[in-house]
Amino acid sequence: DVKIGVLAIQGDFREHKAMLQTLGVEAVEVRLPRHLEGLSGLIVPGGESTTIGMLAREYGLESAVRQRVQEGSLALWGTCAGAIWIAKEIPQYPDQPRLGLMDITVQRNAYGRQVDSFEEDLEVKGLDRPFHAFFIRAPVILSVGEGVEVLAQHDQEIVLARQGQLLAGTFHPELTHDPRIHQLFIAMAGANLLVPHG
Ligand code: GLN
Repeated sequence: DVKIGVLAIQGDFREHKAMLQTLGVEAVEVRLPRHLEGLSGLIVPGGESTTIGMLAREYGLESAVRQRVQEGSLALWGTCAGAIWIAKEIPQYPDQPRLGLMDITVQRNAYGRQVDSFEEDLEVKGLDRPFHAFFIRAPVILSVGEGVEVLAQHDQEIVLARQGQLLAGTFHPELTHDPRIHQLFIAMAGANLLVPHG
């Protein structure tokens, strides 16, 4: 069966874990590299991307996750701060510790103080009705490289994108009762069961 980890260093990992459990998927809190064993997917939650990045580096998770993703045995989904962590480019903060695997450029806190947080119904590719999305001090995906598919936009800005086994979203599906994006990710991770794990 698919086993999915949630990076549990900082941020709203409990909500992701609860959503996975509601869907009948075994959910594991990941704090150390050895917790990745047997997982076919990992969710990196929202929170504070600098904190997540510094601690993930210190605990050896950054390199362990990078290795598993590069060998093709781990699907990865970053939400909000998690999307920042997996992004290749953060022009405002080029030295921020991060995984840097997904070919996207992000801007942190892109909506400024006035509209700090908001909610919106999004059209998402592959879903038959809109997804109610919560944005909380959200980043935007400024641009994507070749091989990255844009799955949702809000006011021209990219808010959900996929590159093979990598998924990045700037909003918080774990704060809704709508499981459809988690289901999409579970399907991505399930495809990994066909890949032999090292
Ligand atoms: N503003 C946070 C950051 O830049 C992300 C916010 C969130 O994850 N809800 O790291």
